[in-house]
Amino acid sequence: MLALGRHVSIAGSIDMAFDRAAGIGCTAMQIFVTNPRGWELSDMDEKAISAFRRKAKSTGIGTIAHMPYLPNIASSNPVSHPKSVKSLIGNMERCRSLGIGHLVTHMGSHLGDGKEGGLSRVVDSVNSALDSAKGTMILLENEAGHRNSVGDRIEDLVKVYDEVGNRRLGFCLDTCHLFAAGYDITKEAVLDEMFGILSIDRVFAVHLNDAKKELGSRLDRHANIGFGHIGKDGFRRFLNHGKISSKIIILETPEGPEIGEAEEIGIVREMVE
Ligand SMILES: [Zn+2]
Ligand SMILES: [Zn+2]
Repeated sequence: MLALGRHVSIAGSIDMAFDRAAGIGCTAMQIFVTNPRGWELSDMDEKAISAFRRKAKSTGIGTIAHMPYLPNIASSNPVSHPKSVKSLIGNMERCRSLGIGHLVTHMGSHLGDGKEGGLSRVVDSVNSALDSAKGTMILLENEAGHRNSVGDRIEDLVKVYDEVGNRRLGFCLDTCHLFAAGYDITKEAVLDEMFGILSIDRVFAVHLNDAKKELGSRLDRHANIGFGHIGKDGFRRFLNHGKISSKIIILETPEGPEIGEAEEIGIVREMVE
């Protein structure tokens, strides 16, 4: 069965994410496992954790987690870099206690000292996190290519993977970010080339977002599926390419007013042949 869903809120209690996801027809979901706007891991009691694990079983909805906004594992700042690694480790441990196997993190920004340095700090961060926190797999997400970003080229992802060489490292590809970074994923030839560089077997999740801005804009602006420059035909080709439809597919698109959340999930489901 297709593992398809969207990012849902954990407001109220973390297990309520399952009710929200089930209510709009998701068979998979993405959540934050702590306050997304803070540095510290928010408190979570045993009761909430066991309620989450119970609903994971009863609904059968597969969950991946996303790192909070503030940590930057490519950071050249001597204060924020170790703080970011600590946050990555804390989020991985929280995932393990919740029974979540995959944690998505952005590769971040080198803050001006160049991509080489940024990439080597991503490698160091991933290595120390994988050493400290067991079980959870890290999925690095490609970036749109905003100023100072690390990870907008497929080659960046491959470089980090080759240097880390740990099987608990994989990737989450965001379609809007790929398109903004100049990859026209509506074309078979571009997809063939991309997956010639990065093995599709290292990709565990896809962020399925249409792009508000044109190809190569370097702007991270998500649009609803079919309402942006990738378009319905583009997504149909993308989703049916190779093993893409066997991955965990998560929408991070605007909530209305163009389209309802359940309707959008239904449209994507119908695209997969
Ligand atoms: Zn994303
Ligand atoms: Zn984005």
